[in-house]
Amino acid sequence: MSIAGQVLGAAGHDNALLVQINAGQAIYRLLCDCGEVGLAQRPVGELQALDHLLLSHLHMDHISGFDTLFRHSFNRADPPMQVWGPPATAQIMQHRLRGFMWNLQAELRGTWLVHDIGTEMVTAWRFHAEEAFARAHPAGSGLHAGPIIANADFSVTAITLDHLTPSMGYIIRETPRRNIDPARLAALNLLPGAWLQQVKSATPDEAPTLTLAGQTYALAELRAQLLVETPGDTLAYLTDFRLDAPTLARLVPALQGCGTLVCESQFRHADLPLARRAYHLTNRQAAGLARAAGVAELVLIHISERYRPADYPEILAEARAIFPNTRFPVGWV
Ligand SMILES: [Zn+2]
Ligand SMILES: [Zn+2]
Repeated sequence: MSIAGQVLGAAGHDNALLVQINAGQAIYRLLCDCGEVGLAQRPVGELQALDHLLLSHLHMDHISGFDTLFRHSFNRADPPMQVWGPPATAQIMQHRLRGFMWNLQAELRGTWLVHDIGTEMVTAWRFHAEEAFARAHPAGSGLHAGPIIANADFSVTAITLDHLTPSMGYIIRETPRRNIDPARLAALNLLPGAWLQQVKSATPDEAPTLTLAGQTYALAELRAQLLVETPGDTLAYLTDFRLDAPTLARLVPALQGCGTLVCESQFRHADLPLARRAYHLTNRQAAGLARAAGVAELVLIHISERYRPADYPEILAEARAIFPNTRFPVGWV
């Protein structure tokens, strides 16, 4: 049970975050952004096994590596590839899907499901390879309230950030685990058995009581006494945005309990006017956010190419002066 994030792409170049959620019975793979981050050098099977592509926005440095991913999974039907991004993602993605000569598509079965995440609504569109992706089929829309993805193992929350265009931040949370406390079980003089599954189950009870060794117990009572909840990992990916006071006020509660915050730091704080103009963050702002939100660690990514490798130790030191547990991705320095 864990969430592991791997930053892709080199220092001073495009970056992305590959996320693997190991839920024991299942492994989920999410890719946050898709710039020139060396996808062609990664195992094909890994790209084909992606469950979700989470795009912050569709500026070139966040989508330019998409063709590599598409080449390996354009014909995936089951499950369909799912793409998420800000409003107009489906429209831009359709251009990407259409941007090839398709003339043998009748036998293809690939399906792509693209979701536009608005502040009020999430709207999905389905695209089919056998139609050469020519039609955008409405695939449902719903209120944007709570997580955009949620299953028994994890959830993803999207937050709209201001990059002079919407940029989506993503917070990926493992579902808390509910386990039986063996000491409490022993204290009740009950023997372990298949009945414990019923206690752990989150589905509504058909019978709200259990009879054990001739004695009847209320399930709700047993749950209250026996279950301990362990919080899961949380990983956040935030890039390309301006950190003003209202944004900080929205992000701090959203990042509650977050383990690792992977956050852009396009500029040094000495270049704050540049950062403001470009709707980007500085290293000290990223560190200030990490401190205010109380995350466990901060990983700085998406550093401008204007800075030289010799600047990196200072960029890191400036951030660490505010939030000590800051680092660059593995292999950068
Ligand atoms: Zn951008
Ligand atoms: Zn960018």
